[in-house]
Amino acid sequence: MPKIKELEEVLADQIAAGEVVERPASVVKELVENAIDAKSTQIDIVVAEAGLKQIKVIDNGEGIPANEVELAFRRHSTSKITSRDDLFRIKTLGFRGEALPSIASVADVSLETKTADAVSGVLLHVKGGEQLEKKSSVRPQGTEIIVNDLFYNTPARLKYLKSLQTELAAISDIVNRLALSHNNIAISLTNNGRVLLQTVGNGDVQQTISAIYGVKNARQMIAFNGKDLDFKIRGYVSLPKLTRATKSYISLLLNGRYIKNFQLSNAIIRGYGSKLMVGRYPVAVVDMTLDPLLVDVNVHPTKQQVRISKEEQLAQLLTKSVYDRIAQENLIPDALKNL
Ligand code: ADP
Ligand code: MG
Repeated sequence: MPKIKELEEVLADQIAAGEVVERPASVVKELVENAIDAKSTQIDIVVAEAGLKQIKVIDNGEGIPANEVELAFRRHSTSKITSRDDLFRIKTLGFRGEALPSIASVADVSLETKTADAVSGVLLHVKGGEQLEKKSSVRPQGTEIIVNDLFYNTPARLKYLKSLQTELAAISDIVNRLALSHNNIAISLTNNGRVLLQTVGNGDVQQTISAIYGVKNARQMIAFNGKDLDFKIRGYVSLPKLTRATKSYISLLLNGRYIKNFQLSNAIIRGYGSKLMVGRYPVAVVDMTLDPLLVDVNVHPTKQQVRISKEEQLAQLLTKSVYDRIAQENLIPDALKNL
C-alpha cells in the first residue's frame, strides 16, 4: 500500500472547517456573507442557545438553481470567481468556496432555496458531509439555511467553546459589523426568541448606528471624511465625551468588507490627540474605499485580515481626517450646537 494517499473529501472538509468554522459566530458570518453576496435586501438570523443548538439564516436573495445545490456543498466550488484575474478584483465577500462544505462537515445542515425563475424550490439535507435527502419544496425566492448541532462530531471543538454568553456576544459583534457595512439590507438577529438587533436597511449609516449603539449614543457621533490620491474615507466618529473601555467599538470597513487592523484602529485613536482619557477609546464606523488592486483579501480563510499596499499612507490620512474633524467640533461653543 502506498504511504501517501489523497484524503477523503469529508475528512478534507473537516480539516478546512478547523480554520473557517471556529465557533458559532464563524458560521453566522459565513452564512450572512453568502446572503449578502446573493443580493438580499432582507436577512434574518435566528439562533437558539447562542447558535450551538441551531443557527438559521433566511434571505430573499437570488437563490441557488436546483441542479447546483449539491455543488454549493463541494469544496472549492463557487459562483463568485472564475479566473485568476478575478482574485485580484474581488467584490464579493466570499470566493473560496469553502464555507458550506466546511459547515456541513461538522453539523446537520438543511438548505432550502429558490431562484426567481424556478417554478419550485429545492431542499437539501446534509449531515457530517453526507447527503441525506434532496427534494423539491414550495417557498418564495431566496435561501433558508438551518444548521443544527454544530460540532456534534468534533467533540474537541465543542469543548473548546466559551460560555453561551461569550459565544452570543461574538455573534452579536459579527452581525453588528455586517449590518454597519450593509446599511441597505434590513438585518435582524434573534436569540432564543429575543430580538437583539433589527436594522431598517434604508441605506442610512446613522440609522444602523442607532439600532446598534442606541439613539442617544448615535447623536454623539459626527460625520467626517478625507481623501487623497489613493484613498477615500468616510464615516462617523464619537465626540471625545463618548468613549468605551476597549478598542472593539471601532469598526473598519474596506471596500464594504469589515476588517480587523490594529494599525488603522490606532490611527483613528491618534486623531483624538490628547482628548481621550487614558484607557478610553472612541466609537467609530469608518468606510475606506480604494482600488481593489491595492488590497489582498486572500490572506486568511476568514478574510478579516487583509494586506493593504500603502497602509502607512492610509493610516496618516485617517489620523489627519479625524484630527481635523474633532478640532473643528471644538471651535463651536456647546451653547450654539443645538440651534
Ligand atoms: P463562497 O461563498 O466562497 O463562494 P460558499 O461555500 O460559502 O462559498 O458557498 C458556495 C456557493 O453556494 C456560493 O458561491 C453561492 O453560489 C452559493 N450560495 C451559498 N449561500 C447562498 C445564498 N444564501 N444564496 C445564494 N447562493 C448561495
Ligand atoms: Mg461564502
